[in-house]
Amino acid sequence: MKDFAFHRPASVKDAVALLRAHSSGKVLAGGQSLLPVLKLELAEPSDLVSLGQLKELRDIRVDGGKLAIGALATHDQVHHSAEVKKAIPALAHLAGGIGDAQVRNRGTIGGSVAHADPAADYPAALVGLGATVITDRRSIAADDFFTGLFTTALAADELVTAVQFPVPKRAAYAKFAHRASKYALVGVFVAETAGGVRVAVTGAGPKVFRLAAYEAALGKKLAPASLDGIAVSSADLNGDAEASAEYRAHLIGVMARRAIQALA
Ligand SMILES: Cc1cc2nc3c(=O)[nH]c(=O)nc-3n(C[C@H](O)[C@H](O)[C@H](O)COP(=O)(O)OP(=O)(O)OC[C@H]3O[C@@H](n4cnc5c(N)ncnc54)[C@H](O)[C@@H]3O)c2cc1C
Repeated sequence: MKDFAFHRPASVKDAVALLRAHSSGKVLAGGQSLLPVLKLELAEPSDLVSLGQLKELRDIRVDGGKLAIGALATHDQVHHSAEVKKAIPALAHLAGGIGDAQVRNRGTIGGSVAHADPAADYPAALVGLGATVITDRRSIAADDFFTGLFTTALAADELVTAVQFPVPKRAAYAKFAHRASKYALVGVFVAETAGGVRVAVTGAGPKVFRLAAYEAALGKKLAPASLDGIAVSSADLNGDAEASAEYRAHLIGVMARRAIQALA
């Protein structure tokens, strides 16, 4: 790990000013993804801007039919939150399945979405629910936020401050987890929303994606049998030592059916 200067700003405004002043600086939230990156020297930031003092970014609240989760809310907080369990139980379930207890105690929703790991769980919930990412300067629809492998629509000096989820009629998440890390080899989020059925897949491709064919079929009847006969192409899916692209394509069908069965 290379040397870096460490900053603890007291406000979002100061954090953004620090990032503007240090163009090779990086934000530090829970450190669960950034610290391994630094240890492997895959990034060598000149400055780390810790969000640790920004307690206002930990709030979770329901407002006007929307669930707003502050960027610094940990996975454990989301998992145990009474507001989340009441509004979107599938989201509380998803957060409780991330990594292990240590990761859930430090890792944050803002860090997870900004990191945009293709096997992360939250991106499936954001896209599956049609969420909005709130930053220090704008709102970005989840459909436009995840732009590629570990890349997002965020500018280098832009901070995620919260994620806002519309409360669905019903939703569920099912994942086939990596045995050690619990990252998704394939995770499928299914939601019945005011705008129709949404299906988002994580872990299978270079970034989270929606499955239009599944959404159309489930829009007619929200039942596992509606997916019968709809093939998922493995052409653009990931293949690695854990699972081939063909196996991931098969798992998408299995996880989608499990999510539909678990809808609540
Ligand atoms: C052993 C292990 C197992 C894991 N298993 C899973 C799993 O099963 N599922 C899963 O989804 N994830 C898993 N993770 C990842 C974990 O969820 C991380 O917590 C998450 O990816 C990053 O959150 P963080 O708060 O730790 O962010 P950090 O590591 O601090 O930051 C990650 C990146 O996001 C940027 N960033 C952080 N916060 C913000 C912000 N508010 N605005 C803008 N940029 C920001 C940082 O600059 C950095 O580039 C695992 C991690 C480990 C170490």
